[in-house]
Amino acid sequence: MRNWMSLQADFGNFQYRGNVYVFALKMSFLTVLLSGVIMAVTIPPLGFLGLLPETLSHAIGFGVIFSWLVGGTVSGMLSLAAGFALHELTLSRAEFEKLSRTDTLSGLLNRRAFTEALENTEGDASLVIFDVDRFKAINDRFGHGCGDAVITAVSAMLISAFDEMSVVARLGGEEFGVIISGEPLEARMERIEGVRARIAGGAIAAEGHDIRITVSGGVADLAAGRNKQAVYASADRALYLAKALGRNRVVHEREGLHHAWHGLADNGLEAKGRGVESDNVMQAYGI
Ligand code: GH3
Ligand code: MG
Ligand code: MG
Repeated sequence: MRNWMSLQADFGNFQYRGNVYVFALKMSFLTVLLSGVIMAVTIPPLGFLGLLPETLSHAIGFGVIFSWLVGGTVSGMLSLAAGFALHELTLSRAEFEKLSRTDTLSGLLNRRAFTEALENTEGDASLVIFDVDRFKAINDRFGHGCGDAVITAVSAMLISAFDEMSVVARLGGEEFGVIISGEPLEARMERIEGVRARIAGGAIAAEGHDIRITVSGGVADLAAGRNKQAVYASADRALYLAKALGRNRVVHEREGLHHAWHGLADNGLEAKGRGVESDNVMQAYGI
């Protein structure tokens, strides 16, 4: 039974054309085997009862040839047809699956895929949420097409800044999520800060304009047993604080409470234009 089940499991992999031929061969072989068993059970009793039109050896010979040539071939051809249909289905399903996890503008993973990756992340890692500063003003000033070009350029910069161990996604609008693992926290923070500085230091060429942008980032750490949604919410709060502290900066969740208490309340961030934001941050931190 177990062998039969593993045979079925082999049949299930129709991603590669080669497996379709293997499937057809197996089905053909099984048909021949089955007809052999049927012959072994039916022909001798029929011969014993004298109901065979031929001698027993001739009947067995005809039966073998018939089962090999007709049974094996027909079953093989049908299995090939079914196998190729399943092969096409598997490919289009894989394509659909890929599209449903990809952001069309940037080519990065989308929020759905990012959430899945976050849920599956184990061990030491950091979650960063980057958000382009004053992006609405870029759209307003240069047009939506330039805004799209900025999103594409930032996506490319993020992909090149983080290695293949990291997960980079566009969470929506001008917001990006990165899960960084495989290095100590200090190295991760340096890398994140490096990306921020590189983006702030360059200009993005789009439709004849050189667009200078900055990004803000909020960082929270994943650790064994820590709820992923809580980590996301903490990174989001840290990003919120980075915005309130003046943008073009990265805030780690650890700094969050400190700033919320001392920075916002004491050092004048409630000056003109920031009052609402600092109020919001203090609200976010429950102060
Ligand atoms: P902040 O510094 O606080 O993040 O300000 P902001 O202007 O970046 O943020 P806000 O949320 O006010 O504006 C985001 C804008 O992004 C509004 C929306 O029209 C624009 N946007 C969202 N998705 C896209 C997109 O796919 N392409 C373009 N060009 N614009 C987009
Ligand atoms: Mg923004
Ligand atoms: Mg945003």
